[in-house]
Amino acid sequence: MQVINTYYYDHIARENQQVISAQERLKSFSETQLNFSLNAALQEVERCFSCGNCIFCDNCVFYCPDMAISKTEQGYQVNDDFCKGCGLCVNECPTGAILMFEDK
Ligand code: SF4
Ligand code: SF4
Repeated sequence: MQVINTYYYDHIARENQQVISAQERLKSFSETQLNFSLNAALQEVERCFSCGNCIFCDNCVFYCPDMAISKTEQGYQVNDDFCKGCGLCVNECPTGAILMFEDK
């Protein structure tokens, strides 16, 4: 299960989408919901958690106590010979991009 770590995100209030009044709706076939302004849209983008996607923050590399994670050209690689399965990388990944499974 992916779990995002909200500690790494600022609290940003949701933008309320503006709508035209009931009187205006009765007078025309215009869209009832108005577009966000550029600033409001950019503010909404800032609220994105990028759930499950690596944002290349390097947290997993920095927090791993055994230096088992290294950066490669493709992304990141865990060296099983050094990983002790502590789960710190999973906890400190802001987006929940790392999944840990029990080895059967
Ligand atoms: S589980 Fe622990 S030891 Fe293994 S890669 Fe993650 S932080 Fe490093
Ligand atoms: S896997 Fe997570 S902690 Fe590691 S770089 Fe990507 S987003 Fe950051």
